[in-house]
Amino acid sequence: MSGISPSAAALYSRVEKVIPAIEWPVFTDDIDAILRLKRERNAVILAHNYQTPEIFHCVADIVGDSLALARKAMDVEADVIVLAGVHFMAETAKLLNPGKTVLIPDMGAGCSLADSITPDDVRLMRQRYPGVPIVTYVNTSAAVKAESDICCTSGNAKAVVESLGVPRVIMLPDEYLAQNIAAQTDVEIIAWKGHCEVHERFTPEDIRELRAAHPGLTVLAHPECPPDVVDEADFAGSTAAMSDYVGTVKPARVVLMTECSMSDNVAVDHPDVEFIRPCNLCPHMKRITLANIRTALEEMRHPVTIEPELSGRARLAVERMLAV
Ligand code: SF4
Repeated sequence: MSGISPSAAALYSRVEKVIPAIEWPVFTDDIDAILRLKRERNAVILAHNYQTPEIFHCVADIVGDSLALARKAMDVEADVIVLAGVHFMAETAKLLNPGKTVLIPDMGAGCSLADSITPDDVRLMRQRYPGVPIVTYVNTSAAVKAESDICCTSGNAKAVVESLGVPRVIMLPDEYLAQNIAAQTDVEIIAWKGHCEVHERFTPEDIRELRAAHPGLTVLAHPECPPDVVDEADFAGSTAAMSDYVGTVKPARVVLMTECSMSDNVAVDHPDVEFIRPCNLCPHMKRITLANIRTALEEMRHPVTIEPELSGRARLAVERMLAV
């Protein structure tokens, strides 16, 4: 490890189980620059669980799933927030911190779920089902949130649906999340046809083949997976719930049916657990790199803006969720 600056070199112990030593020098220059820029800009980095380990474990200040990031974004005292995640997450951070500068390192970091629905679609659903509350997954644009009554994440969707005290709700836009929640509640759920392009690719056959190849395997699935995949798994929950499950149950062998970086990030803290790693990459999450986080802080780009006309209504939907 000669030639590596002390601060980055010291961080290697956090990721040595998932990043080979020969690859580490590629990251150190950017890591040192980012650590320096964070101090100079009074900035914090919020990173989603699907970010790569060198981001998640070496430069992020706050990590978690969408719900945790939304909650923790409310307590940020820095002047600048860099969102290492996708665009709707940066918008949520901006909604909750309207006076701060929120940067997204790549404006192309989108989401197939967010792209599956428009504000006009939500208005049409409201016309078609008058009086039925609209619960919108946080994986949507601020403009869609603004047309909604309340938001939810995969971690709190059931609690949000049941908090409304009504027999029927509209839940947008993830069809599979809606179906998986419908299986757990007496509330009737009207769904949309959006899918996560990462989780929709898993199949029950994948799980059966993995169990045959790896005896004793514990299978954890994200609720954005199709219901037949969730049925075949041992446990279904948000990325935070999957991480908690591994920490609490400590299965000998586990597979996380979700985005690839999740296993790397959880494995760092659980050296005794064997992680089987078939996974699907999210091309949007992977647009965020150390290099563009560094550029974001150097050049203060790309600042997230939300039209004032939308932001009040969208914030209300997020705040109602956080109050559940
Ligand atoms: S993993 Fe799926 S839901 Fe998450 S950002 Fe990627 S496409 Fe969107």
